[in-house]
Amino acid sequence: MSEDSKHDMGGDAGGQRQPEGTSGSPVDPARSTVAGRGFADFLHRNSKGLAPGTAFSPAIVPTSIYSLSSEPSGAYQYARWANPGWTALEQALGALEDAGAVIFPSGAAAVASIFASRLRPGDRLLLQSDGYMGTRSAAEKYCAPIGVLVDTCETAQIAHRSFDGYRLILLETPSNPGLDLVDIRACALRSRASGSSLVIDNTLMTPLGQRPLDLGADAVVYSDTKVLNGHSDVVFGHVASRDAELLAAVLDWRRLCGAIPGPFETWLVQRGLETLELRLTRMHANALALAQALARHGAAVQVAYPGLSSHPAHELALRQMSGFGALVGLTLANKDAAERFLQACRYLRPTTSFGGLHSSAERRARWGDRVAEGFIRLAVGCEPTRELCAEVLRAMDQASQERS
Ligand SMILES: *Cc1c(COP(=O)(O)O)cnc(C)c1O
Repeated sequence: MSEDSKHDMGGDAGGQRQPEGTSGSPVDPARSTVAGRGFADFLHRNSKGLAPGTAFSPAIVPTSIYSLSSEPSGAYQYARWANPGWTALEQALGALEDAGAVIFPSGAAAVASIFASRLRPGDRLLLQSDGYMGTRSAAEKYCAPIGVLVDTCETAQIAHRSFDGYRLILLETPSNPGLDLVDIRACALRSRASGSSLVIDNTLMTPLGQRPLDLGADAVVYSDTKVLNGHSDVVFGHVASRDAELLAAVLDWRRLCGAIPGPFETWLVQRGLETLELRLTRMHANALALAQALARHGAAVQVAYPGLSSHPAHELALRQMSGFGALVGLTLANKDAAERFLQACRYLRPTTSFGGLHSSAERRARWGDRVAEGFIRLAVGCEPTRELCAEVLRAMDQASQERS
């Protein structure tokens, strides 16, 4: 038996053995349907009724101008306002969650569109203290100086935090990198009662893994740079909402401030979206298999993953999410142990970000996250499950042997 096959995971998604204290199938096929329609319907939404000779793939239209009549009318008048490729992608993203969608050249711009269109001097904004740092920094740098009161709260404390007096509450669940959960339905009810708007950053889970709008959120924002595009080759984002007024204000901000996506990037995301269900299913299966295998292996001080029954919000994860996401939090003894492991593993790209086909990992303390020095965020990709698990466990063994 070779060293590698010692940790063989057996079958594809999650191994043959279901260890105790871990939950079952990572993605229940019945739960990966989209608002009563499956992803198959989504993929085939344009398959019928097209005139012969019509391309199935949307066109890339690189233009700044459109021809106009003496009285400008129609959808396409100037390219900061509209592009046929944007229309196609926004229709697709909107169809995924029965909402309207507005696309942006980054997730950060999508978040900025919410801040700029919702907040006025004197308004209060609530964010997580342990959520995505860029969102918090943008609020502190651009909202606070114009008189918006920016408050933060730990994810674990959100359930006990009063929402009274807040104009906007923007939350991320699972939080990153801590992977704590927020009960979206409960927050939406409390937010409504307080007259606040609740916006969920759904970047980690995508519209297929979690449905905040169905749970009562007013809007969702995404960094499509991550899982949604999934190929680590474009920076992109979008906002989706069923509130026409909210969405119109977001669209207005894009038109006037000019945070517009390029036609080529738009097309790349359109193509990435076609394989989302496939990639997400594999990622979730890989992440669950890895989390289980690492927990069983015992070399890590802690393995945090919402799919493990040891996770404090596992019950909520089962209720609220389809699959448990592609991030696994791994705490090793110290910085050296973590670096040795990262060096040893061939299948972990040394990068930040997550959601791509290739697994990656990094020590988050290097960015100033309030986590242990030995904390690693594993961003699980789409490699074959068996090979990925075997290599990660082999690297774990190698890293622990190097120490002794
Ligand atoms: C990456 C990220 C963003 C910012 O998105 P960009 O596409 O990098 O601008 C916002 N929220 C979350 C949760 C993210 O992970």
